[in-house]
Amino acid sequence: MCGIVGYVGARPSQDILIAGLARLEYRGYDSAGIAVITDDGALEMRKRAGKLKVLRDDLAAHPLTAGNTGIGHTRWATHGGPTDENAHPHLGDDGKLALIHNGIIENFAELRDELAGQGYTFKSETDSEVAALLLGREYRELGDMLAAFRAVAGRLEGAFTLIAVHEDLPGVVLGARRNSPLVIGLGEGENFLGSDVAAFIEHTHLAMAIGQDQIVQMTADAVVVTDFEGNPVDTTSFEVMWDASASEKGGWSSFMAKEIAEQPEAVANTVRGRVRDGAVVIPELDGLDDLLLGISRIVIVACGTASYAGLVGKYAIETWSRVPVELDLAHEFRYRAPVIGPDTLVVSISQSGETMDTLMAVKYAREQGAKTLSICNTQGATIPRESDAVVYTHAGPEVAVASTKAFIAQMTALYVFALHLGRVRGVLDPADAAVHVQELESIPAKIQRVLDEEQAHVEQLAHWMADTRAVLFLGRHVGYPVSLEGALKLKELAYIHAEGFAAGELKHGPIALIEPGQPVFVLVPSPRESPLLHSKIVSNIQEIRARGARVIVIAEEGDAAVLPYADEVLRVPLTGPMFEPLLAVVPLQIFAMALATAKGLDVDQPRNLAKSVTVE
Ligand code: GLU
Repeated sequence: MCGIVGYVGARPSQDILIAGLARLEYRGYDSAGIAVITDDGALEMRKRAGKLKVLRDDLAAHPLTAGNTGIGHTRWATHGGPTDENAHPHLGDDGKLALIHNGIIENFAELRDELAGQGYTFKSETDSEVAALLLGREYRELGDMLAAFRAVAGRLEGAFTLIAVHEDLPGVVLGARRNSPLVIGLGEGENFLGSDVAAFIEHTHLAMAIGQDQIVQMTADAVVVTDFEGNPVDTTSFEVMWDASASEKGGWSSFMAKEIAEQPEAVANTVRGRVRDGAVVIPELDGLDDLLLGISRIVIVACGTASYAGLVGKYAIETWSRVPVELDLAHEFRYRAPVIGPDTLVVSISQSGETMDTLMAVKYAREQGAKTLSICNTQGATIPRESDAVVYTHAGPEVAVASTKAFIAQMTALYVFALHLGRVRGVLDPADAAVHVQELESIPAKIQRVLDEEQAHVEQLAHWMADTRAVLFLGRHVGYPVSLEGALKLKELAYIHAEGFAAGELKHGPIALIEPGQPVFVLVPSPRESPLLHSKIVSNIQEIRARGARVIVIAEEGDAAVLPYADEVLRVPLTGPMFEPLLAVVPLQIFAMALATAKGLDVDQPRNLAKSVTVE
């Protein structure tokens, strides 16, 4: 994980680095540090354990000498605790070069032994410091910094983005990447490096992605990209659609509150431009009909919240396109010899497009000859670049670590994809499709109603339940993934033990957990649209109620059947049965956020987590 920023230009680098790190802090917040080549040509560094604020306060009190070239890092620790010493940058042995690293160097122990054998000593417990010491050694031997950088990149195994500066090259930042992200921001008389475009979006919207196993040498006026052998490579730049203000908190109490409120827009933007004459036609999939006709099954790979979006996608794709779908956690898929081949479409879901577990699953799928399609929120990210096709979600930048609007947008993209696939394969009746499309287009206004009408009620509920120690969530059909997501949000944000179950599973075990007062959220399907499922879940509610559970139902407006058995009723508008998750998850997101807030916790940066998990 971790956030990386680099700058070369005419402006003082310190403020630019700190502002960039602030936009990337969601990627890790165990420590932060910067290194600058000062106007006198000296390397100065400051790094501090804790959130970025600690470093920022330290620099405000004792600024570094001004300089126009620098690098910065926010850490998500993998090797060594969150201490000042383990914070990045790390220095070469002569103190003239500074290096920062994102990822895990898998052969670091061997390299460490090699360096120790040559008399090198280590100041930190990180895997990253070996790269810094190695770079210093190679530079001394080769006399050429770029060649030394290439040599180091060639020695490392695992996942890394490295960026470095050296006193001997005052206006140069070097970068290299393998399996970790790095993007260039192209300015006028200045250039930027970032883990993602958020790092520099306030300065430039022109970006360039760096491919796998590539090295960049960046000055104020030029960017030269080569492979690890030094051969030039083709690069393409792209315009970043995000608005800089979209990744700012504005007047909201938290990024999460802001992002929950942005969900109507996330759905609308993800549908926009993909409907033609009442049918879904995804422009990005133009020319891919043969691919979509040639598949006989789909495997969705994802992790965490994205995997729950995938489970919703499974129901929609199977119903509307009749293609069988399996869902796999990306890390399990990758290491269990799955049966896939040229007739399999592997659909990956990752907000950042950099999730390492998912990336590895996609690469593995390609090696096996499968087709790959990425659902992703970030232009220029690695997973879409490594896939045959991409359907972007247009949720805008998501900063809060626990996903909300990206989840809603992922489900929307999967609905859109399922409708597209059903049309291409000729199995979806156009009249039915038009009804689904119309319903999907009405969702943003319905989410807004949930926000307007239920937010205060849910917050009140969270306040009453601030001392709760465990919460259960039940759902059926597409309500099941929502129950899983409701539980995950509560774990992530409020550190409360929570479990989601398919309601039909209750009697097969989990009902033993029910004791008097146990809070249980139940997602109730529409009585009009899904009468059978509705009656079954009402029975489930009675079963837990009989054992003393405190029942909180999320039910359609006007559904009176649940009233006799519910302690609390949260209402959502009527929608098509497949689309219920887009509405039902909203009260659960608000509940988790409000309960965490009631406990005094930081909802944007929960403990131990980081967004965009770029390590395996
Ligand atoms: N493995 C390195 C460390 O633990 C880098 C972690 C990161 O990507 O933030 O310091």
